[in-house]
Amino acid sequence: MKKIEHIGIAVIDLEEASIVYEKLFGSAAYKREEVVNEGVKTAFFKNGPNKIELLEATNAESPIAKFIAKKGEGIHHIAFEVDDIVSEIARLKKEGFIVLNETPKKGADNKLVVFLHPKSTNGVLIELCQEIY
Ligand code: ZN
Repeated sequence: MKKIEHIGIAVIDLEEASIVYEKLFGSAAYKREEVVNEGVKTAFFKNGPNKIELLEATNAESPIAKFIAKKGEGIHHIAFEVDDIVSEIARLKKEGFIVLNETPKKGADNKLVVFLHPKSTNGVLIELCQEIY
């Protein structure tokens, strides 16, 4: 597992939150993307080497809608970059982590992603992501 690739923040209103983060970083989102199968709209911000992903639910079944209903807005996940997501899944399963999707799926920002259940990571939703070339 490599560096933190980005931190995901669940927001109620992507447009309003984008204005806040634009002011915070002094620059606009460099990418906006809807991930239909996840029920989210995202906006990515860069600050130096760090990336922040804002996520808004596009329907009530979206994991982001459920998260906000339960916990309100806030940090939703931490994403780590990996070189080989398939072998990392196998390794982490062997270590006893609960993998939410056994097969990597296409996430935002041209990545294959997999999530680890917070139950197995002390309450933090962890995303592994591998760049698609
Ligand atoms: Zn993410």
